[in-house]
Amino acid sequence: MTFEALGLHTSVIKALTESGYTKPTSVQEQAIPAAIEGRDLLVSSQTGSGKTAAFMLPALHKFATAADLQLADTSKTANQEKQSALARGERPRFKAAQPKMLVLTPTRELALQVTTATDKYGSQMRRIKAVSILGGMPYPKQMQLLAKNPEILVATPGRLIDHMESGKIDFSQLEILVLDEADRMLDMGFIDDIEKIVAATPESRQTMLFSATLDGVVGNMAKRITKNPMIIQI
Ligand code: AMP
Repeated sequence: MTFEALGLHTSVIKALTESGYTKPTSVQEQAIPAAIEGRDLLVSSQTGSGKTAAFMLPALHKFATAADLQLADTSKTANQEKQSALARGERPRFKAAQPKMLVLTPTRELALQVTTATDKYGSQMRRIKAVSILGGMPYPKQMQLLAKNPEILVATPGRLIDHMESGKIDFSQLEILVLDEADRMLDMGFIDDIEKIVAATPESRQTMLFSATLDGVVGNMAKRITKNPMIIQI
C-alpha cells in the first residue's frame, strides 16, 4: 500500500516524501480512507503506531482540497474583505479565533508533538497554521497566537476552556474534532471540560477518537460524541 493509493492530496504526499515516509502504517492504512470519506472514527492504538498522521493527514487533505477550490473561486477572501474595510476607514473589530480543527490532548508534551507533526505534514501547504494552547503558557503569548486565527488548534482541555469562556475562541466553524489519548484525558479528570468543549462545537463536525482502550467510560463518551463511527482496533 502507498500513500498515493489512500487518496491523499499531492501537497500532503510531497511532505511525506520529504519526511522520508515510504508507506503508511497499519492504523494509517485503515483510518485515512474512512476519514477522507468524512466518517467518524474510534481507534484503539498505542503511541508509536503512527496515530498522529492517521488523523492529521486526512484533515490536511481536506483543507488542501478546499483551498484548491477557493483558488478557483474569484469571490473575495476574508483577508481582501478586511483590507477593503480598512480602506473605507472602518476600525477592525475584535474577532474570536474560528478554528476549523481542534485536537485535544491530555498533556502539554503530546500537544507540542502533535503541533510539530502538523507543521511537518503541512509543510507544503501555504495557508495552514497550527497553534498549541497549553496550561502554563503565558496568556499574552496565547492571545497573540489566537489573533492569527489559526486553522488548527491543539490544546489541553483546561486552558482551552478558559479561552472559550472569555470569548477568544468560537467553535461555530469547527469541522474536525480529535480526542487524542482519550482514556488518559478521562483518567486525568477532564471529562466535564471535554463535554463542555464538545457541546460548543457544531453537530455536523467529524469526530475522531484515539485511545488505548475503547471500553468502559471511554466507550460511553465515544458513543455520545460520535455518529456511526468506524471502529479500528490495532
Ligand atoms: P505517533 O504514533 O503518531 O506518535 O508516531 C510515532 C513515530 O512514527 C513518529 O516519530 C512519526 O514521525 C513516525 N511515523 C508515523 N507514520 C510513519 C510512516 N508512515 N512511516 C514512517 N514513520 C512514521
